[in-house]
Amino acid sequence: MARLRRTAAALAALLAVGLTPPAAAEPAAAAEPAVAEAMLTERATTATGLAAQGRTVEVDVRRRDGDWVFGSGVLTAPPVHGAAPDAWLFLGRRTGNGWQIALDTGAGFAALAARAPESVLSLGEKETFAANARNAAAPTGLALPYPTGVSWTMIGGPHGWSGQPRPWSSVDLNGGDRRVLAGQSGRAYWMCRNGGHIRIIHDNGWTTEYYHLLDEIKPDGAPIKLGDYLGLTSTRIPCGGSAGSNHVHYAVKKGTAWTALNGLTIGGWTFREGSRAYSGYATHQTVRRNVGQQLTNYGPDDPG
Ligand SMILES: [Zn+2]
Repeated sequence: MARLRRTAAALAALLAVGLTPPAAAEPAAAAEPAVAEAMLTERATTATGLAAQGRTVEVDVRRRDGDWVFGSGVLTAPPVHGAAPDAWLFLGRRTGNGWQIALDTGAGFAALAARAPESVLSLGEKETFAANARNAAAPTGLALPYPTGVSWTMIGGPHGWSGQPRPWSSVDLNGGDRRVLAGQSGRAYWMCRNGGHIRIIHDNGWTTEYYHLLDEIKPDGAPIKLGDYLGLTSTRIPCGGSAGSNHVHYAVKKGTAWTALNGLTIGGWTFREGSRAYSGYATHQTVRRNVGQQLTNYGPDDPG
């Protein structure tokens, strides 16, 4: 218990610095340390461990009604090459013992979502979360995040959401007029408080993530269509990491879990890992494109 109390005190100190200060008596404010603790627990770290890496906790309560809260939480990325923030949507319900927090990567999220009032989670969002959890399967049905028929450069082949660590779920892309578009229809959320990171949850069971966006939209669960504008490629790092040149860090999850791109077909290209992160290649029929070469986006439904 003493250790738990110390953890809570460290969290409170961290949050006092990192969070906007709503009135302390509000239930939503009281939820924030519980959300932070849930995120740190999922990453098997502590507030002091995170701070030692130069990282911070962001908890952004977007909606609240009575004993319920919904929002986005982030553990910012360390300032190293390829690192990207850990980000979750969360749902919280106040109980007699404090807050019950469910992160969207957790098994309890769907069940809690089903019980949330529609003032906190709309019927459409509940349907999207349920469909996403139910339908995860190949083929991906995803396009590359730019216009169909247009070619962009693959400046980084398959690598992890945060660089080296597997699974290698991400590619770095740039080109054209830098306008990054939704890879498929779904519901979109902005993740970092300062923007620049968008998550789209697709009904077909896949989830796509976009980081380093500039002049981005800030959707809060809004329905989004294939090809809708999200933002521009850039070197922005609104919640940590680093980027050496303009690009979008485009990543896929199966359901809510990072998954390797290796063998997946997106935009008509089947991605293959190399021996190192950021190497690898993609194939379309008999064409092979390596890192530094261009990928024409064939859209979501090309049989390849
Ligand atoms: Zn990347």
